[in-house]
Amino acid sequence: MARMDRKLLLIVIDGVPWRNWRRLFGNLEGWVDSGEAQVWKMRSVLPSTSASCYASIHTGVTPAEHGCTGNANVFRLKHADIFSETRKAGGITGAVTHSFWSEFFNRSPFDPVRDIEYDEPGSTSINHGRFHTMTGYGLINQTTPCDADLFATLTMLCQRHNLDYGILHSCTLDSMGHRFYHDCREMDDACFKLDEMIAPYIIRWRAMGYEVIVTADHGQDDRGHHGGRDDLQQDYALYYFGDATGPAQETTLSQLQLAPTILKRLGAPVPASMTGPVFLAD
Ligand SMILES: [Zn+2]
Repeated sequence: MARMDRKLLLIVIDGVPWRNWRRLFGNLEGWVDSGEAQVWKMRSVLPSTSASCYASIHTGVTPAEHGCTGNANVFRLKHADIFSETRKAGGITGAVTHSFWSEFFNRSPFDPVRDIEYDEPGSTSINHGRFHTMTGYGLINQTTPCDADLFATLTMLCQRHNLDYGILHSCTLDSMGHRFYHDCREMDDACFKLDEMIAPYIIRWRAMGYEVIVTADHGQDDRGHHGGRDDLQQDYALYYFGDATGPAQETTLSQLQLAPTILKRLGAPVPASMTGPVFLAD
């Protein structure tokens, strides 16, 4: 018997602006054409900085409220989030992400030997975690894992532990944007390859009964920058694979709507702290 109403996987591809999604991700766009996927524009919180956005994606509250001001200020958040509320509702959670997600939602500081990989069935947060730190990251060395390996790891967790909710986060394209910017063949190729790597897994996750959301945390401008108020820095696509219907095509969604919407899809109560309107309905 199913523990929750539905199972859902959230795939966060870091730092991909709206224009790159719609121009370069041919498999995702093909599924929009075929009706398998629906796509909307979503706008990040401010600051449009990675850590601040991760915290808002999962708590549904602004950085002004959760307190994460940027990548140098990562701590265990106090707010209810998708992991905690899924656990309260009896679901099993998993994460294949940068270590910031473990620090925000489970425990901080990140101890690589203790926290790089854990299976904690009794956890009130992340039950099954597989993390990477990107230690040494910079413009001449991305230190990002291969995305195909991350997709395989999430699939393994789904098969082995029957996750109700799983999140995957990859920094590859954000790092490529900071290095090479956007009007270049390096970025064309990086987006093309990620689209080709994720496509067979989307087919597989759907066959396993998961609804799937593929999205970003923020965009990037022509110089690969993000953090401030700007359409290129803040706006990205959200692709949804599932049976629900959403708002009108031209609607721009808020990043704060994601957490309550995911909890609603799973069948978990939405906490009072998450005030963004749920955007998917049966
Ligand atoms: Zn980011």
